[in-house]
Amino acid sequence: MKPSHIEHIGIAVTNLKKAISFYEKVLGLTCYNIEEIPDQKVRTAFFQVGQTKIELLESTDPEGPIGKFIQKKGEGIHHIAFSVEKIEEQLMYAANMGITLIDCKPRKGAEGLDIAFLHPKATSGVLIELCEDKHITG
Ligand code: ZN
Repeated sequence: MKPSHIEHIGIAVTNLKKAISFYEKVLGLTCYNIEEIPDQKVRTAFFQVGQTKIELLESTDPEGPIGKFIQKKGEGIHHIAFSVEKIEEQLMYAANMGITLIDCKPRKGAEGLDIAFLHPKATSGVLIELCEDKHITG
């Protein structure tokens, strides 16, 4: 797949405001975007750190994926997102390698990126997101 970089690290939080305050006041980063994604039942906040972003994820519904994650595991790192080109081909490649996919086809994630998740059972326990910014790659 040869990802170019880690696009973002997704962190599940129970209180977005409190978490933003940590990243701004302690780490000195600036939250440049807050976005609600009704489809995934989350509210997200973004920080840029070099080429990589931190994506804070607060659940808007206890039955949503982040709500369930927090119930099971508590707050913490939820996923790592790798930036790839030709995401459809990468998903086919992963499937051919025997990797279980959560998304067989890319869908729209935060910031208009095309995203798809690989199942953590197939990746040593880490939920991996592939993402492609088609604004850049065309
Ligand atoms: Zn993500």
